Amino acid sequence: GQPVVAVVGRPNVGKSTLVNRILGRRAAVVEDVPGVTRDRIAYDAVWNGRRFTLVDTGGWEPDASGLAAQVSEQAAAALDTADAVLFIVDVVTGATDADEAVARVLHRSGLPVILVANKVDDNRFEADAAALWGLGLGEPHPVSALHGRGSGDLLDAVLAVL
Ligand code: GDP
Ligand code: MG
Repeated sequence: GQPVVAVVGRPNVGKSTLVNRILGRRAAVVEDVPGVTRDRIAYDAVWNGRRFTLVDTGGWEPDASGLAAQVSEQAAAALDTADAVLFIVDVVTGATDADEAVARVLHRSGLPVILVANKVDDNRFEADAAALWGLGLGEPHPVSALHGRGSGDLLDAVLAVL
């Protein structure tokens, strides 16, 4: 079948917003409340005539303890079926302990990882995006899932690893 791209990251970093941006429609549920995406949901996506499956992840309870472990578990489960990973980090919050835990899981997976610095709504956040080099996953791709900024370059980077 077509290649599978898993979208992983902490609650509220903008995974579902990015999925909608890539799909060009509102399919994934976006909420201000963390944890609204209950399960892994697969969508058919296309960019430059190439088809791939995009898997949105979530399923955390807003007040659950051990968030880092839960996010890592969810990311690890998504990796089982993935050919590549979009790892989303929120530049407004910056990289947290949970982000670093996920980064380690992803690094160990050996899968191609595309690091997304989301919520770069304007130039002021470019430096915060660059700080994500520190996660050790290569180049951070600055994106505003909300406004669309950077999403074309991001999709080119996705296709390049599929
Ligand atoms: P998820 O839990 O990772 O799926 O995150 P959501 O996609 O549900 O988004 C969580 C919140 O972040 C919502 O209020 C979104 O509107 C907001 N958000 C997502 N992407 C961006 C962005 O690029 N810029 C800004 N400013 N907010 C964003
Ligand atoms: Mg979501």
